[in-house]
Amino acid sequence: MQVVVASHPSSLEHDTGRNHPESPDRVLAVRRGMDECGLDIVNIESPEIQRSQLAVVHDASYIEMIEMYCSLGGGAFDMDTVVSEQSWLAALTAAGGVWALVEELRARSDATGFAISRPPGHHALRQRAMGFCLFNNIAISAALLRSQGEKVAILDWDAHHGNGTQSMLGDDPGVLYVSIHQDPFYPFDGHIQDIDAGEAKGTTINIPVPAGTAGDVYRRAWGELVIPVVKQFEPDWVLISAGFDAHVNDSLAELQLRSDDFGWLAATVAEIHPVNRVVATLEGGYDLEALQQSTVTTLMGLAGVAPMSDETGVSPAAAGHAVDKAAREIARHWKV
Ligand SMILES: [Zn+2]
Repeated sequence: MQVVVASHPSSLEHDTGRNHPESPDRVLAVRRGMDECGLDIVNIESPEIQRSQLAVVHDASYIEMIEMYCSLGGGAFDMDTVVSEQSWLAALTAAGGVWALVEELRARSDATGFAISRPPGHHALRQRAMGFCLFNNIAISAALLRSQGEKVAILDWDAHHGNGTQSMLGDDPGVLYVSIHQDPFYPFDGHIQDIDAGEAKGTTINIPVPAGTAGDVYRRAWGELVIPVVKQFEPDWVLISAGFDAHVNDSLAELQLRSDDFGWLAATVAEIHPVNRVVATLEGGYDLEALQQSTVTTLMGLAGVAPMSDETGVSPAAAGHAVDKAAREIARHWKV
């Protein structure tokens, strides 16, 4: 089993300013995790995504605005989302890395893919940067796969809801979008009821959980709801918005996952879907040690090389009730 890792040096030069949690050090932490995991890593340099490929989910005027803003030296789009001159190249290659992995895995039988995407992408809207995100890296590849007639499941285990991804692809019945996220929490989106919104009934699955939710309830939601739905959906590709800010040590969210929990989530995906049709892309994750260790467990989980510990955190009762509530809605569309 090989792990093809896509990255680009410009990800280290996307300058968000001093003391910003979304820092270049995150890339280095993921790299340390790659070194530590003991798997056969194949590094590729992420190419720049083409403008026509960005335009599958972003407006042309928005793409031009980002380019212009960066070329003039950058600045802040909002309180969180800051760019520098190098951010343009970093953003193009962050999106390009995910698509390069799709193409790379098509040519390999015993490999899986991980993109060290920085800036991250799942909050980026069609014409708005937000939540540290400029271009929606995962949505771009999903939309490109759709244009080739492939069905895509996007599994988003970041602590935040991927509002950009849902807004871009939520109406497409050929895309299953699943998000488990802290609620109420930024970006204050991602409701259970969205399963009935728009054109594609049943394919937008949000499982909002309260602060304090730990691995026991994440694993239960994943095992009883997410995995059965993915199996019934029968996607050609599984793309993972792999954010690690649900880790107990992460200061941006208030969830309680341990590194092994991410590995467990990844391993259960690998059990039901060919891993050479699975691409994970980095979203959040701001505690550097947690990010490093969770990279190790996620890659090992995907590669199926080691069983993940059954030991995990214990959630408050409200977390279980939140999953029960989501389950009732999901059960109207899927056998769960
Ligand atoms: Zn996040």
